[in-house]
Amino acid sequence: ESASTERDGQSAESARAAGTERPLLEFDEIDKYFGETHVLKNVSLDVPDGEVCVVIGPSGSGKSTLLRCANRLEEIQSGEIRLDGQSISAKDADINRLRQRIGMVFQSFNLFPHKTALENVALAPRKVKGMPKEKANERAADLLDRVGLSKQKGSYPNQLSGGQQQRVAIARALAMDPKVMLFDEVTSALDPELVGEVLGTMRDLADEGMTMMVVTHEMGFAREVGDRIVLMADGEIVESGEPKQFFENPETERGKRFLSRLL
Ligand code: ADP
Ligand code: MG
Repeated sequence: ESASTERDGQSAESARAAGTERPLLEFDEIDKYFGETHVLKNVSLDVPDGEVCVVIGPSGSGKSTLLRCANRLEEIQSGEIRLDGQSISAKDADINRLRQRIGMVFQSFNLFPHKTALENVALAPRKVKGMPKEKANERAADLLDRVGLSKQKGSYPNQLSGGQQQRVAIARALAMDPKVMLFDEVTSALDPELVGEVLGTMRDLADEGMTMMVVTHEMGFAREVGDRIVLMADGEIVESGEPKQFFENPETERGKRFLSRLL
């Protein structure tokens, strides 16, 4: 009897409590090389449906590459990545369909400068999904409401703060109705006073049950919103556990050293 059958009809929360959660996103012994450099070394990780998995670790440890492999922005050399049980790393996987199901937000927002916030959010559903303009705009308006930008729908990116632009970028990713959201240091380029509003939007998403992988240096967010902390170093997952356990009593030397440097 499979975990996914057991899980039918259960909420993500009760499934988690019962230990029957189905992995929505799975990294199965993946290896990634850039030329001779081995940057992901036999990495395995399951992200269950509804979980917020926070990935931390020093610069250069492979965090961005891990997320980029999940979205097929990078190819892996061995192992497999699966979404909902289906291979997304196979050579013949449908990359466009896959990118609709895995939303990604980066440090740089890359909004179209000559389009309004609403147009930026409505664009992909229109172009990629062929959604009629009216419907795409309606949905974009709802999403902008959801990220707290109801008053900025007609604003152009240069009329918005960095935090507002990043929230537009989050709404834009949500417009494709993804199953999983990947966030790569989305607050790192923001002025400190704007970080909180973006983290607040991410916290709301988590509360609504979105499955998320979040690379961040914001340890308060990691601890409060994360269901699990994954520490990477030199292309490997060196420790993984519940936030309380990890931050209060890390199991590994690497974990202890990482935390001590944060103080
Ligand atoms: P992190 O996000 O944890 O800072 P990255 O995933 O960006 O780490 O990088 C992991 C390693 O891969 C680093 O050694 C980095 O220099 C290398 N790397 C990342 N992208 C490329 C690339 N496009 N070509 C060559 N090496 C890369
Ligand atoms: Mg990075």
